[in-house]
Amino acid sequence: MTQNIEGKVVVITGASSGLGEATARLLTEQGAKVVLGARRMDRLQALATELRLPTGAAVKTDVTDAAQVTALVDAAVALHGRVDVILNNAGLMPHSLLERGRVQDWDRMIDVNIKGVLYGINAALPHMIRQKSGHIINVSSVAGHKVRQGSAVYAATKAAVRMLSEGLRMEMKPHNIRTTIISPGAVMSELPDSVTDPDAAKNVRAFYENIAIPAESFARVVSFAMSQPEEVDINEILFRPTAQEL
Ligand code: NDP
Repeated sequence: MTQNIEGKVVVITGASSGLGEATARLLTEQGAKVVLGARRMDRLQALATELRLPTGAAVKTDVTDAAQVTALVDAAVALHGRVDVILNNAGLMPHSLLERGRVQDWDRMIDVNIKGVLYGINAALPHMIRQKSGHIINVSSVAGHKVRQGSAVYAATKAAVRMLSEGLRMEMKPHNIRTTIISPGAVMSELPDSVTDPDAAKNVRAFYENIAIPAESFARVVSFAMSQPEEVDINEILFRPTAQEL
């Protein structure tokens, strides 16, 4: 399962906690060279130290700024000479009913969950097209397949990630670049902390405490998609806790 991972240069956005952090750990263990991006530099530095990453492998990055995402990917190329995988993972989930009018939350979700992914694609493509190889992994969600009351904007952003990824998949045929959408169900992370509406926060927390599965489950899915032979492109994986109904 770990073949095809050793030596690969993997850029991870949102690497300072949750799914991104767990993936950085597993892929490093499996021999990949990870380069970490997020805003909380103290958390990134601590992880980089723990994983014994070289200087320059933790890059302060706000994915709502295209130039910062380009700088992150360029830093990976400067450090390791290439970029094999980008995991566009940074995201937030401030659920609320539309009637609450939490416009700032909507803007942040659109900026991070959609534009952040686009900026990651934009940053990686010039290198991957030149290399004639690469793998773009975008994080959607079960919410990208199903909407519920209170999740309309989040679900819309995650559905957008799926559409972008499918369009990207088709465009990348001449360039030998693989694309994967990963749509997790409830996975333990700091995501429930991003809910700002008090009523929604209570519900989300209770839901996660009941059924969320460890972040390593996500990391194993990334590893699975990466470890396939180059001619095999795992386009989409949807997974949930066994106990999750919706
Ligand atoms: P966490 O809250 O634990 O992690 C989110 C990560 O995104 C953090 O590292 C955070 O870093 C980063 N981030 C947020 N805003 C920005 C920004 N503007 N620029 C750069 N980085 C940013 O949640 P998860 O690990 O669960 O979330 C990872 C992805 O998985 C998200 O896209 C989420 O929607 C998706 N997902 C998660 C599920 C779950 O149940 N956990 C289910 C389905 C999808 P920092 O604050 O340091 O910048």
